Amino acid sequence: MEQIHAVRRIQFAAGHRVFQHESKCRNLHGHNYVAFFHARAESGLDAIGRVIDFSVLKEKLGGWVDENWDHGFLAWEKDTEALEAIRKVPGQKVYVTKRNPTAENMALELLLEVAPKVLAGTGVTLSRVVLWETENCYAEVQVDVR
Ligand SMILES: [Zn+2]
Repeated sequence: MEQIHAVRRIQFAAGHRVFQHESKCRNLHGHNYVAFFHARAESGLDAIGRVIDFSVLKEKLGGWVDENWDHGFLAWEKDTEALEAIRKVPGQKVYVTKRNPTAENMALELLLEVAPKVLAGTGVTLSRVVLWETENCYAEVQVDVR
């Protein structure tokens, strides 16, 4: 059977560091990230032929990213040095991650934890998240397709 996805692109800027990285990614730094959210409908296209209106994906997923990650700093809960340092900056937006905030783990967090929460009740689920960290590198995560 054919598979149909609606894909929404969301850009954001965020700081992070990769805890225990062997070289430069151990430093506090940031990226202009570009995420592609691949949504599929639980019960086919709607009456006018959409998976979901693209604006709903922007509002739900983009809204969450704006509020939690955009212009914030992502730090792993085990990275106490970075957390302590960044929390000294008054008013700094900090997001504590359950996994080391590599592009792979950030994409996983969006797919497995953020999307089910923010897309509940919309009739769509994400099957894939592609997260570009630089112009040359991206991570891609997807759910198993049976
Ligand atoms: Zn980085």
